[in-house]
Amino acid sequence: MNPLLMLTASELSQMLRAGEVSAREITAAHLDRIAAVDGDIHSFLAVDSERALATAEALDDRRAAGEELDELAGIPIAVKDLFCYTGLPTTAGSRILEGWRPPYNATLTERVLDAGLVVLGKTNLDEFAMGSSTESSGYGPTRNPWDRTRIPGGSGGGSAAALAAFEAPLALGTDTGGSIRQPASVTGTVGVKPTYGATSRYGVIAMASSLDTPGPCARTVLDAALLHRVIAGWDPRDSTSINAAVPDVVGAARRADVKGLRIGVVKEFGGEGYQPGVEQRFREALSVLEGLGAEIVEVSCPHFDYALATYYLIMPAEVSSNLARFDAMRYGLRVGDDGERSAEEVMSLTRGAGFGAEVKRRIILGTYALSSGYYDAYYGSAQKVRTLIVRDFEAAFEQVDVLVSPSTPTTAFGLGERIDDPLAMYKADLCTIPSNMAGNAAGSFPCGLSPDDGLPVGFQVMAPALADDRVYLVGAALEAELGRRWGGLLIDQLASREVSA
Ligand code: GLN
Repeated sequence: MNPLLMLTASELSQMLRAGEVSAREITAAHLDRIAAVDGDIHSFLAVDSERALATAEALDDRRAAGEELDELAGIPIAVKDLFCYTGLPTTAGSRILEGWRPPYNATLTERVLDAGLVVLGKTNLDEFAMGSSTESSGYGPTRNPWDRTRIPGGSGGGSAAALAAFEAPLALGTDTGGSIRQPASVTGTVGVKPTYGATSRYGVIAMASSLDTPGPCARTVLDAALLHRVIAGWDPRDSTSINAAVPDVVGAARRADVKGLRIGVVKEFGGEGYQPGVEQRFREALSVLEGLGAEIVEVSCPHFDYALATYYLIMPAEVSSNLARFDAMRYGLRVGDDGERSAEEVMSLTRGAGFGAEVKRRIILGTYALSSGYYDAYYGSAQKVRTLIVRDFEAAFEQVDVLVSPSTPTTAFGLGERIDDPLAMYKADLCTIPSNMAGNAAGSFPCGLSPDDGLPVGFQVMAPALADDRVYLVGAALEAELGRRWGGLLIDQLASREVSA
């Protein structure tokens, strides 16, 4: 493996600024890596080699001319194929949008481009971000670089696998119920779901609008924070965007000090259904944090037990509305338009052919939950429980600064293992969904390999809305102390396997 691939974005940035390497060399190394491994991993749905190299060269010229550039200028990034980007087709992982080229960029795509990051390509995802394994992608699954017979998580499995396979040092994800954190957890990488509204949804293909939250994916906490700083902040084009200062996430990632911090362990997240090795690594990480001077207490959030059920009413309701726009008239696929059939027939044939099973299941569920006579029983009740979950968080954050749990109850499961069992699939997000319900900040950080199967375990940190910096603070403290014990990052253990193989 080219040694450049194993460096963090922050290290690459220092070398770039010191003139020790060019953006072109860095980009070329990553494109070569993608060419070598992506046939098997399948992180990417599209790669844009020519544009990436041209962008990198242009940046080298600007740097040589003495221009003041962003810290991440010249660093490659992989972008989940849910973000509109005019440079490549944007498919949302769905056949219904095959080949569709958006006429505009998402705000986050634009921010990343403005900062001089080099877009390598678009990454695979479960169709319209619905899933926990990338197996629901209309373009075939992504494999987990730790074990290629296993899932890389979902929906953002492509972005997480790209990081774990050293195809990119940074990636963009979106998290509606866990799609940044769960893939990070099962690939031994870092993923943060910022506060809802802290990152713009403009130009991000909508799944469930009251939950969707774009965010950074990386291999280190500092790298995620550097990307967070680039993408976060008010956007007048998104009506739910928060007009408030972005917390100092980079400062927090550098400080990495949890002395005196009150950490609440969510009592409800453990026991039955949790893999013993996951619980073991989680407990060990807690004692690491305690050793660093944090105060650990147990906190009960009784309504978190209902979060998954609540999510599977609210999310499909929003999905059924958001996906109505794929009507064969405006975008992408059109099936059966022979001049004889009615518009309704063409819509029905197109949606029948273009959407996969999971998307159809959710549209049907959501339409049902919203239908007259059932609205109060299902959607209305779910909204009430959502409020109770928010109140659990409020009560908890009066006692503690952050809440923690395993990111996901198990390590990466096998490809094919849960795809025909939706309820088993949905349980992957048991611990991540509450933060989407409440709109607060949460992240997943590697805390070791499970002793029962040797696969990565994720440690989740949840913080109040607009206190995203606390998520980074705890993540960075954990990363630094575990790194001292392991002699590096968890993901480096995967890289060294490849070197020794
Ligand atoms: N896995 C969850 C789902 O299937 C979360 C998806 C997401 O966050 N986009 O809905």
